[in-house]
Amino acid sequence: MTSETRILLVEDESSISDPLTSALEREGFAPVVARTAAEALELASSTEPDLILLDLMLPDGDGRDVCRSIRVHSAVPIIMLTARGTEVDRIVGLEIGADDYVVKPFSSGELIARIRALLRRTSATKELPSVFQVGDLTIDQASRLATLAGEPIDLSRKEFDLLIELVRSAGTVVTREQLMAEVWDENWFGSTKTLDVHIGWLRKKLGYDTSDPRYLHTVRGVGFRFATPEEFSSAV
Ligand code: CA
Repeated sequence: MTSETRILLVEDESSISDPLTSALEREGFAPVVARTAAEALELASSTEPDLILLDLMLPDGDGRDVCRSIRVHSAVPIIMLTARGTEVDRIVGLEIGADDYVVKPFSSGELIARIRALLRRTSATKELPSVFQVGDLTIDQASRLATLAGEPIDLSRKEFDLLIELVRSAGTVVTREQLMAEVWDENWFGSTKTLDVHIGWLRKKLGYDTSDPRYLHTVRGVGFRFATPEEFSSAV
């Protein structure tokens, strides 16, 4: 990801936009705030944001119309912020071209996890080759088969999904929250206990050794980092 990920926050209530702007800045994002539909359209084209957070009810219009207008020109990831929680509105929100939605009230932590998940899903540069090789480990995405030094590894569905998520971001830290949102449930928010259990199993199957974790590194207090092929080739 680039150092400056621009986020256009379209929200007329400063009680929501002020704390959210601070939270986004703390997370390393560069937020820009629009308070009306007209301002949103103007800033969506002039600032070329990497992602848009779009409130449904704006003083001069409907967020869904803003979303449709943006979609005519742009595939920018859009998360709708809505106070309406009915199924119909959720479906409509996605039919008009939004990528995701968050129902108010939400915590900034929850929203940021969703932002990261969406950016990862939509980032073309993170596409994996169909067969990925790192050290003695080979992962074939199409056949969902992983081998270690030529020997097949018996991975459960979740373990394989987890492995793919980690490898997709090889070389960078993936937070526990990202993994929970990507591998378990995109609406997830809460304990990561189950993740730690699965990480433990996956590690064991990858031949984990505390003195030499090789593939799956723990980044204390944050999450995990998978090794890159370069780390292995340079060690030879
Ligand atoms: Ca509003």
